[in-house]
Amino acid sequence: MNLSRFPRIKLCHAPTALEKMDNLSKLLGGPTLWIKRDDCTGMATGGNKMRKLEFLLGEALAQGATHIITQGAVQSNHVRQTAAACAKLGLKCTALLEHRIQTNDSDYLQGGNVLLDHLMGINIEYRPGGTDMQAAIEEFGAKLQAGGERTYLIPGGGSNPTGATGYAAVALELVNQANDMGLNIDHIVHATGSAGTQAGLVAGLIALNANIPVLGIGVRNPKDKQEANVFKLVESTLAKLGGPTPQRSSVVCNCDYVGGGYGIPTDGMAEAVLLLARHEGIFLDPVYSGKGMAGLIDLIRKGHFKAGENIVFVHTGGQAGLFGYADYLNAKAVAA
Ligand SMILES: *Cc1c(COP(=O)(O)O)cnc(C)c1O
Repeated sequence: MNLSRFPRIKLCHAPTALEKMDNLSKLLGGPTLWIKRDDCTGMATGGNKMRKLEFLLGEALAQGATHIITQGAVQSNHVRQTAAACAKLGLKCTALLEHRIQTNDSDYLQGGNVLLDHLMGINIEYRPGGTDMQAAIEEFGAKLQAGGERTYLIPGGGSNPTGATGYAAVALELVNQANDMGLNIDHIVHATGSAGTQAGLVAGLIALNANIPVLGIGVRNPKDKQEANVFKLVESTLAKLGGPTPQRSSVVCNCDYVGGGYGIPTDGMAEAVLLLARHEGIFLDPVYSGKGMAGLIDLIRKGHFKAGENIVFVHTGGQAGLFGYADYLNAKAVAA
């Protein structure tokens, strides 16, 4: 897998650590649990989007862009990381934020990622829930272009073949780490949203002929839609990488842990956040990695993963989002 032919700006502290979670493994009494610390990619409290931004902003700079436009939910981790990379690279940044959740909670509307976005001073505009956000950034970008600006549009979550290439790079990094440690990975599990993380991992693992299955735990869409989104992006990412034609069976999502909808807390998420905090000193996030871990925990309890297996949970970050859910999580922490 030759990634050096694509423009790239190194932004991440990488390789990120691959650590064993002894306490959680013992507590759940099933497989051996490992965690790939992509919450610690370094910049602006870390997270998975910086992996994608290395290739996306590499391409933007190669094209001579000076103004980056992207979108996300109000508590978007992707927007926060894009803002940080733009600050470092001296690029203008506009984010359109969708009121995807109906709430008056000031922590959600002003705290967490929103506070960090404000500190970085990016240009923010809001759109109502249900807006076609891709159309919205295209419209916004067209206006700026008409005014003579050199724009580069990043889709929600940075999920296109260029962004997903960042996670093909992580597949390579992870397989190298595992080989160095003599660790035989049986499954990779992580939270899947805009699909780029899973698509990049699956594409990279196929290109490497690694034969390691990936399970994406959904946080928004039903299973059929999520798997279709991921598979389409696996195909286009492998086309970019020059890899083989993927099998549809390479993409597996479990969307049983979404609960009431995107960004709406679940009891399983709260349990996962507290377990990891109290037994491993690791913070998950309420929207993605908390629900992803809730899925993994439930599947272990149901015997889906077995003793003797090595499971790697990819921690995709998002801790800043905890502060957008402070009241809810405080109540859960006190009650537990
Ligand atoms: C965006 C995000 C995800 C999901 O990754 P996708 O590539 O959008 O599927 C998972 N966890 C966190 C913390 C995220 O911010």
